[in-house]
Amino acid sequence: MRAPRSRTTAALLSAAVAAPVLFAAAAPAGAQDARPAKQHPSQAEKAQKLAKKLVKKSTGKSAHRHLEKFQQIADANGGNRAAGTKGYDASAKYVHDRLKKAGYKVSYQNFTFYESQTVREGASVLSPEARKLNAVAFDFSKSTPEGGIQAPVAAARVDDTPGCEADDYTSDTFTGKIALVKRGACTFAEKEAAAAKAGAVGLVLYNHSGDQPVKGNLEVPENAHIPAVGITKAEGEKLAEQVGKGEVKVSVDVATKAVPHKTRNVVAETRGGRADRVVALGAHLDSVHEGPGINDNGSGSAGLIEVAEKLAKETKGGKKLTNKVRFAWWSAEELGLLGSDHYVKSLSAQQKKNIKLYLNFDMIGSPNGAELVYDGDNSDNTGSGPGPEGSAQIEGLINGFLDKKKVPHWGTDFDGRSDYGAFIANGIPAGGTFTGAEGLKTEEQAAKAGGKAGQPYDPNYHAAGDTLKNIDRKIFATNIDVIAHAVGTYAHDLRSLKG
Ligand SMILES: [Zn+2]
Repeated sequence: MRAPRSRTTAALLSAAVAAPVLFAAAAPAGAQDARPAKQHPSQAEKAQKLAKKLVKKSTGKSAHRHLEKFQQIADANGGNRAAGTKGYDASAKYVHDRLKKAGYKVSYQNFTFYESQTVREGASVLSPEARKLNAVAFDFSKSTPEGGIQAPVAAARVDDTPGCEADDYTSDTFTGKIALVKRGACTFAEKEAAAAKAGAVGLVLYNHSGDQPVKGNLEVPENAHIPAVGITKAEGEKLAEQVGKGEVKVSVDVATKAVPHKTRNVVAETRGGRADRVVALGAHLDSVHEGPGINDNGSGSAGLIEVAEKLAKETKGGKKLTNKVRFAWWSAEELGLLGSDHYVKSLSAQQKKNIKLYLNFDMIGSPNGAELVYDGDNSDNTGSGPGPEGSAQIEGLINGFLDKKKVPHWGTDFDGRSDYGAFIANGIPAGGTFTGAEGLKTEEQAAKAGGKAGQPYDPNYHAAGDTLKNIDRKIFATNIDVIAHAVGTYAHDLRSLKG
């Protein structure tokens, strides 16, 4: 799970509208066969049988061995498994080798990502009076010439989506000026692009809370159009007030450097099953630099290994499956969903069409966790809209399984903080589970599922304490079962996706 950001949901919403036609018409059932159901198990029966078997064979205890391995890898590599480090590469090799041994067709997908290093950062007011601003460079900001750029300030409208949309830049002339924009409601990249499009030659973004300057991040070098710095809320509000009274001139001096790093996704698929009906599952394998990332996301990664191994065992390496099952371990999720984005971008239109659904598992062993199911039907009516057609049905399948096990569960929004984003944006139905990050457990959740209300689901989120010791083994085991049930069902029968 990557860090929360101010983010618009417009991209997800618009993507969710156009769902592709997912299925060819089903063949007429048993036209020549008088008693098909008695002679051959139906798809539904096969699915039910495999799901039951996988749930029984896949266990939290067995999956825990992989968490132990990830902890050992982190301990031996400076305490983390972040993308671009030896700890990550060792994790990827571990997953690769296990899946290969289990009989999967396994590949590494190599890609380069960039780390932004700040070379210079600064900004100051030149008139009506001279003062220095406490400014920090956006990651991947365009650089100014040494000595900076000087220009008058124009303030973008502050509304529900401040500086996110073109009409936030109509109150003044922005051409040749430095845009002053308030933080919130959409991504840093979206604000920077909107300001550049309005003609601004630089961006000064001010924080919406606290007393620190906002650290913007454009995520990839390609998003950079104009030099951009963040300042504090108080400084921003003062500037906005001054702009309202007359001309304000500022100087922005910033330089960043994009340092390339190599990393890789691991992708493993069954040898059997229809290639035009792929059941895809993913978990990010990278941690943050601050800790070993055992819950975030050794847990989802271990869950996929466990179920993949048991699936191979029960189906002769996946040869007896109706549909192909593809497991992916993503890199650089914590840096902006880079691995999954790279993967989806690398697919042809046909390859995307072949993926019938995507299941995501990110943080499934939170120590004060709640069982949260991605809100495919938008019944919670928060944040993003529903997922592409089929997402509601995925949520239904998982909810039904949890109800049967009498596990209390709640919805969780597709808020763009994990790897389903690129799949949803391409009209692929998505779902999965999550047991909570820095958010606080509600009274209702604590009453029904135990744990501490008002406390974070994972107090060690993105910190050194995200270790083997701080995994809730019970909720972890529950989610191994969720993965097993979904894999067993969809590997033979996708009809429930149509509702
Ligand atoms: Zn994370």
